[in-house]
Amino acid sequence: PCTDFDMAYFHSYAHVGIHEEMIKDRVRTETYRAAIFQHQSFIEGKVVMDVGCGTGILSIFCAQAGAKRVYAVDASDIAVQASEVVKANNLDEKVIVLHGRVEDVEIEEEVDVIISEWMGYMLLYESMLGSVITARDRWLKRGGLILPSNATLYMAPITHPDRYRDSIEFWRNVYGIDMSAMLQLAKQCAFEEPCVETITGENVLTWPHVVKHVDCYTIQLHELESVSTRYKFQSMMRAPLHGFAFWFDVEFNGPANSPTNNHTPSSLIGTSNNNPMDGILKKKRPNPNEALLLSTAPEDPPTHWQQTLIYFYDPVEVEQDQIIEGSLTLSQSKENRRFMNIHLEYSSGGRSYVKESVMR
Ligand code: SAH
Repeated sequence: PCTDFDMAYFHSYAHVGIHEEMIKDRVRTETYRAAIFQHQSFIEGKVVMDVGCGTGILSIFCAQAGAKRVYAVDASDIAVQASEVVKANNLDEKVIVLHGRVEDVEIEEEVDVIISEWMGYMLLYESMLGSVITARDRWLKRGGLILPSNATLYMAPITHPDRYRDSIEFWRNVYGIDMSAMLQLAKQCAFEEPCVETITGENVLTWPHVVKHVDCYTIQLHELESVSTRYKFQSMMRAPLHGFAFWFDVEFNGPANSPTNNHTPSSLIGTSNNNPMDGILKKKRPNPNEALLLSTAPEDPPTHWQQTLIYFYDPVEVEQDQIIEGSLTLSQSKENRRFMNIHLEYSSGGRSYVKESVMR
């Protein structure tokens, strides 16, 4: 059922700004276009569904790559503009814009390809992947192609002294006045909820942990209701631990048994290595037959997703090689499944902590 929350969600996509931000994110948009053309031989003459077409950009790329027909589906009123964009580019014979939820629209045939840009902050925020799964189970032919094919969510402990100084320590001395009385409130306001910000590789204390790997061909809806993991890090340096960063990458593999299929989780290469920079270099993949990777990692070129940070109210001093361990549960909020509850437990140096937050 379409709830009031869904209505508000789709309404937010009727504004130009959000589409402008996504389209101007060249890392995102150019990787999608490159992936479509990498799979051109599969897409040519085939039927495509674009789940959440927005302005229609990915549908048009697919038409340019030779798709026979593209169903461009969006529940937001942006579909009105998408349909005009399609007409203005003389593609209205090929690209059929359907203004409705992918869960509700009717089409007369199965599709060979599903393309979607469904990733939210921390990968799973917004819960749009569920709609891609629904479309897959309903419309995708056996042996069909899903772009992207898989996604991985990572977490890593971080240090960020500048951020802590600017938002918190700042209150200790304001124009010579002791405003430490503001500290509690400042911590609460700055760090209660997850923050979407850009950090760099230098903020990261050690190798990331894989929170969740999603195979878009096989993942089931119920797996997304709650994601839990246990992690154990060994800090590569002595630093104040300020919290954890989260980021993701997605790959564009072909379907099973196709020449462009590649099931090596390339994003995992190097994770057991000792130098974070090695992994970054290994991630650049010049071989045109290898799957493209769209990464939102701190060491990679920035995207509009940035990174998501969960800061602690107070830093924990860690020594080099000190263990930081605990568990994390991400679950869809009961009040609004598009919100995400985050339950984080962490312990280091013999002390344990819990932090609960909600991403709204
Ligand atoms: N494909 C476009 C837009 C991506 S943003 C691009 O790459 O630029 C995601 C879009 O999916 C939004 O426009 C949103 O309205 C739409 N969307 C999300 N869930 C949907 C659903 N269940 N049915 C139809 N559209 C949906």
